[in-house]
Amino acid sequence: MRQSALQVLRAGHVFDGGQVRGPGVVLVEDGLIRDVDFTGALPPEHAGVTDFGPDAWLLPGLIDAHVHLSWDASADAVAHVTTGDSSTVLEAARSAAATALRSGVTTVRDLGDRDYLVLALRDQVEAALRPEIIAAGPPITSRGGHCHFLGGEADGADALRAAVRERAERGCDVVKVMASGGNMTPGSSPLDRQYGRADLRLIVEEAQRYRLTTAAHVHAADVIGDVLDAGFDTLEHFSFLTADGAALRYDLLDRVVQRGIFVSLTLGFLPGEPPLPAMAARIEALIDVMAKVVSSGARVVVGSDAGIETGKPHDIFPNALVQLAQLGMPTLDVLRSATAEAAEALGLTGRKGVLRPGADADLLVLGSSPLADLSAVTDIRAVYRAGHRVPLD
Ligand SMILES: [Zn+2]
Repeated sequence: MRQSALQVLRAGHVFDGGQVRGPGVVLVEDGLIRDVDFTGALPPEHAGVTDFGPDAWLLPGLIDAHVHLSWDASADAVAHVTTGDSSTVLEAARSAAATALRSGVTTVRDLGDRDYLVLALRDQVEAALRPEIIAAGPPITSRGGHCHFLGGEADGADALRAAVRERAERGCDVVKVMASGGNMTPGSSPLDRQYGRADLRLIVEEAQRYRLTTAAHVHAADVIGDVLDAGFDTLEHFSFLTADGAALRYDLLDRVVQRGIFVSLTLGFLPGEPPLPAMAARIEALIDVMAKVVSSGARVVVGSDAGIETGKPHDIFPNALVQLAQLGMPTLDVLRSATAEAAEALGLTGRKGVLRPGADADLLVLGSSPLADLSAVTDIRAVYRAGHRVPLD
């Protein structure tokens, strides 16, 4: 007999991306959520029922707003991604994607790839074996600029227009620009400005023409001002780094809050691993800046930057959410940030990050309450991706 396609998942508690309710059931069919029900009505007779019990929590799968699937989280991830042959890098990315999925992350936004390998991964590997991938391809960067080794160098209006068009034609979803320099690239500093205001504005306008969203990597305060003027959708890192620390500029933060622009804070780090030296020296100042951003009412989503160093393996995202709570965000808001808010930031409103009829059946089942203790996000009972239950071992 053919197995019923309709699945009913039952748990004592349900977080739907906005509110906590329960007990309830989620009905899944053909990769989509068909219904969410709290009435206690009997499931249809032909449905397959999985009851996770009164202590379990059903929630939308988590969304990591900033990862690097083609980076292998080794001590020399730059060497891996730059000198590895395509099949090696693609295989590592496939493994990274599976690792992220098992940690409850059902959607990632990949913001720094080599040779569009992550697009190949997205197109070749079936949905049930990887998170949904929102892909940028190689980030656009100035000649010799931050992460130039990923192949996204472009300077001047014509080259920038061509770079955006290339990403649209390749099938990218988002345009990532290195507006400031960064820490991973010899000769680059996070305090550097990589593009003028006119260039940044041109990139945003071109991206909008192709209906692509935009993400700006930005550390230094002055460059944050440029990026706000240009109209980027998400601000990556938003760290306000200075020569020896980090210092918030409230005038810029106020603009972000008033305009409701998404800030993608970089969180998540394995305890005991050495951070990049440039960041280690600034860690206290950086935590202070991020705590102020969190308490400001800015729309904060979390990007782990998974893959770039040993402290950031591809299953680090739950740890990042615990860190967001430690910065002062209430646990319910952390859950909203990692689901419905992140979906909106990535242009996926209604499809991801919510339990509601018609949304993709990407779900996470926890064994205990994340509201009581956010570390429950590692107490994973089940992960569903496009309606398929993901093997966890
Ligand atoms: Zn990054």
